[in-house]
Amino acid sequence: MSARPYRRETWLPYGRQWIDERDIEAVTAVLRGDYLTTGPLVPEFESKFARAVGAAYAVAFSNGTAALHGACQAAGIGPGDEAVTTPMTFAASANAVLYLGGKPVFADIDPRTYNLDPTAVEPLLNERTKAIVTVDFTGQPSRLSALKAMAEARGIPLIEDAAHALGASYRGRPVGSAADMTMFSLHPVKHVTAGEGGVIATNDERYYRKLTDFRNHGIVRDRARLEAKDAPAWYYEMQSLGFNYRLTDFQAALADSQLDKLDRFVARRRAIARRYDEAFGGLDEVVTPYQDGEGESSWHLYVLQLNLEQLRAGRDEVFERLHRENVGANLHYIPVYLHPYYRDLGYARGLCPNAEWLYERILTLPLFPAMTDEDVDDVIRAVRSVIRACVPETSAR
Ligand SMILES: *Cc1c(COP(=O)(O)O)cnc(C)c1O
Repeated sequence: MSARPYRRETWLPYGRQWIDERDIEAVTAVLRGDYLTTGPLVPEFESKFARAVGAAYAVAFSNGTAALHGACQAAGIGPGDEAVTTPMTFAASANAVLYLGGKPVFADIDPRTYNLDPTAVEPLLNERTKAIVTVDFTGQPSRLSALKAMAEARGIPLIEDAAHALGASYRGRPVGSAADMTMFSLHPVKHVTAGEGGVIATNDERYYRKLTDFRNHGIVRDRARLEAKDAPAWYYEMQSLGFNYRLTDFQAALADSQLDKLDRFVARRRAIARRYDEAFGGLDEVVTPYQDGEGESSWHLYVLQLNLEQLRAGRDEVFERLHRENVGANLHYIPVYLHPYYRDLGYARGLCPNAEWLYERILTLPLFPAMTDEDVDDVIRAVRSVIRACVPETSAR
């Protein structure tokens, strides 16, 4: 076979939304109505979302990062407190701890699943630890029961960043009820979108109340909770310091309409991941994503690991070559503490060797439900051809 690269004609991004006419109608109906924000559609969406993920409550936020901020505040994280989290994530998971004056403590990942290794978490827990913040990287659920048991033993909550894992399941149940608070993102590359948006699912009424206060300035209107019990009907009071982190009604309408398609979206993502597994599983030059079997991934990302020992090119060259083929490979993630902002805070290289090792050898392939079979073929063909071009001369096949 020739090593001549096949080049698709148009750019294929690594992820993108899928909006249909029903979504558009749902949004325009709200735009013609009375409420743009804080109307009836946010609570409607929240109830539907809570049912979809098997939780008692869902609280919608203006974005996933705001939702994480709320969860960390509800966990009681404050100045000087710590939260143990993973470096293999989008910076927001750790930033939420910083917003509150807390300190993210990074535990290393399991080199097979790329998720937090519970045995690396345990020794980092101490009297200052206020939460464990785990991330379901790529959509594969974390080792939730081990982490939950550890958190419970210390009387602290497990916060699950499931921005990648809407529609995934853990031990036969949907992701959304195993942790104390589970965060989902409604960003356009995620499973369902509101443009921007986020949700916390919880079964705990106390967290639910803290979260709803937090996204609306800490304002309380519920008569039973007012300090002035005989206050007039218009009265409300601010009982804590919150933010304006509300989701608008037209965004809730979009997210609600998208949620109807979640099962279909996840099924398509799984089918594409299966095709990649089949196509690349037999290649010595790459390692396909390992699944630990505790959960079933909803496949936000397909992360291919390069077996650098079998290649004469590094990750960056493989990446460049894929881009030249119009295949929008991406990289998830630079370990959070290697960003300059974190290094200035005192975090240094060497902290989590598994995460740093992995970072050198991964790239993310395009994966989104609107991909056609031909798009998938193009990615497979491009990866094979680039890998062929990158094997040392002596082993060229
Ligand atoms: C997308 C994402 C977030 C943040 O969500 P936004 O809605 O973009 O604020 C947090 N954590 C992870 C792992 C994500 O992928």
